[in-house]
Amino acid sequence: MEVPIRKNHIIFFSGGKASFATADFVKKKYPGDNILLYFTDPQWEHKDSYRFIYEGADKLELPLLVHSTGLSPMQLMFEKKLVYNNRLGDCSKLLKMRVAADYLKKGIEPNIQNWRNANFLKQDDFITGATLYFGIDYKEMHREKAILKNWLPFQVEMPLIHNFVRVDDVLKEYGIRQPDLYKLGFSHSNCSGRCVKAGMGHFRNLKKTMPEVFKKLMEEEYHLYMCVSAYRYIIDNTVPDEDRIPLHVQEMMLQELDDAYRDYFYGRADKPKLYIHPSASASARYMKIRKYSFMKRQGNSLVENSNNTIDAEEETVALDRQEMMDLELYDEYEEDGASLTKYRYASVPYTLRDFNNDEETKPDQIDLFDIGGCGCFLDFENQTV
Ligand code: SF4
Repeated sequence: MEVPIRKNHIIFFSGGKASFATADFVKKKYPGDNILLYFTDPQWEHKDSYRFIYEGADKLELPLLVHSTGLSPMQLMFEKKLVYNNRLGDCSKLLKMRVAADYLKKGIEPNIQNWRNANFLKQDDFITGATLYFGIDYKEMHREKAILKNWLPFQVEMPLIHNFVRVDDVLKEYGIRQPDLYKLGFSHSNCSGRCVKAGMGHFRNLKKTMPEVFKKLMEEEYHLYMCVSAYRYIIDNTVPDEDRIPLHVQEMMLQELDDAYRDYFYGRADKPKLYIHPSASASARYMKIRKYSFMKRQGNSLVENSNNTIDAEEETVALDRQEMMDLELYDEYEEDGASLTKYRYASVPYTLRDFNNDEETKPDQIDLFDIGGCGCFLDFENQTV
């Protein structure tokens, strides 16, 4: 392979102030080299974050490459029939990190590719031998090791950890306004404050500062959980034979479910079509709609016997046991001749509707320090590329 004449540098440009300061640092340190800003777009950013990204690239006078699968986290959840939460969810991995890794390591281009300021590229090959840069500072340095390992054989640097940089001063120097989400009190500017892994403190701020965004997210969460619940009901093969839906009927029902919700989650309709949850016509024992939510509340661990017999109170706790099975958070054992399953870390769904109600009726119970959110780099630790 031919070695490029100039050294390549690729900056993961996320719409955050730190990645802007990182780009400035690299540009000043290596003025003659080939520097690229690289943004993997989850199609869910705030319009002012897009403003910051494009204006930032222009003011830095650097080329910007934008890649995207074309899906937003909400559309990904719809496609996977999952409601992500702070313990489960690979939106950042699939929409950001895998897109980047597929491209930089294997040359695979995603569905959407856009260039801005391509004229600032100093050579066509901007990948060979590149050093990658992340805008992570000392507060997040615990992430450093995993990121370095995952990006091998690329060399990775995080200048804000090892150099003292006043990020706001860098913005001032270029005369660029910070993304509005910081001013609104968000700790990061990703996904327009809608991060599905966020906690109560974060959602309180979203409700206060962008009530329309909060309301829409609350509606979307509701429709998503009804859709996911219906999906799981249709494909459930844990019910006794007499209550199981035959495969050819399942296919028809899944198509009907898709027809009801697809346009809504792809922004082509204001509401889903009228849809009756299939459990409405089930025998009383199986007539239940499982609840799913972005936020969770801690419950007790749950023991269930082989007949799926659980009492009414425990049923609430058991609602997300499928997730615990997916995550292998359960133990099976025998006791007094009975087969038992113990689910660990059971948690209770806590929907944005519940939260909204509690926020109005018992605001003192809202944990303001529960910020949670953005697993955009944490998810990367489990990346296999
Ligand atoms: S900010 Fe949250 S919702 Fe958006 S991609 Fe990252 S983890 Fe997913």
